[in-house]
Amino acid sequence: MNRSFRKEKSHEAHRKHIILIVQVLRKTQPEEFDLVILGGGTGSTIAAWTFPGEGKRVAVVDRKYIGGSCPNIACLPSKNIIHCAKVASYFRQTNEFGITCDGFAIDMACVRERKRRMARGLNDMYMENYSNTGAEFILGTGRFIAPRTILSEPFLLRFGTHSCSGILQEVSLRF
Ligand SMILES: Cc1cc2nc3c(=O)[nH]c(=O)nc-3n(C[C@H](O)[C@H](O)[C@H](O)COP(=O)(O)OP(=O)(O)OC[C@H]3O[C@@H](n4cnc5c(N)ncnc54)[C@H](O)[C@@H]3O)c2cc1C
Repeated sequence: MNRSFRKEKSHEAHRKHIILIVQVLRKTQPEEFDLVILGGGTGSTIAAWTFPGEGKRVAVVDRKYIGGSCPNIACLPSKNIIHCAKVASYFRQTNEFGITCDGFAIDMACVRERKRRMARGLNDMYMENYSNTGAEFILGTGRFIAPRTILSEPFLLRFGTHSCSGILQEVSLRF
């Protein structure tokens, strides 16, 4: 569960982690998954959170963002800032609404912190979903090193069963 993300690990988790590193170094025993998703953005999280419910073992590898672009650098942060601008614009027009306001200032550090707080809250929500569904989240860059085999240091992940490929095809047709 979210192994590389969590800093504190139980003794047992540490032991498993060390065993895994040794296996990676030997490159003999990759971890087996039904599905490994490179990039944990909007396009992949629904699949990541759905397939464990079908009994599939799923891992998501993202090099930078928990939740991908949308909650971190794109849709939601931009709307957060736009909303601040809208509130500021209302303040500028207070006279029009019969409200007296003796000037105001915009504290951009506060605006940015509000946006970051929102992103952190969303990151927590995503991690909770990973935890609740049983999908594993790995923070790291992933790359193919062989067919059906991805290396995201220090993890070596192998994936793909015939049954899972069938389900994926079905889902993409439904979309
Ligand atoms: C400013 C802005 C505002 C937007 N506003 C809206 C909006 O209001 N409504 C809307 O519908 N859309 C909006 N979009 C578009 C929307 O954000 C994207 O369409 C959506 O986030 C794409 O999702 P995705 O899952 O395809 O990719 P992403 O969310 O970008 O996910 C890709 C992920 O892959 C990871 N990755 C890439 N390569 C690797 C690798 N080798 N190993 C590990 N991880 C890797 C990246 O770190 C990233 O997190 C906006 C975009 C921007 C830039």
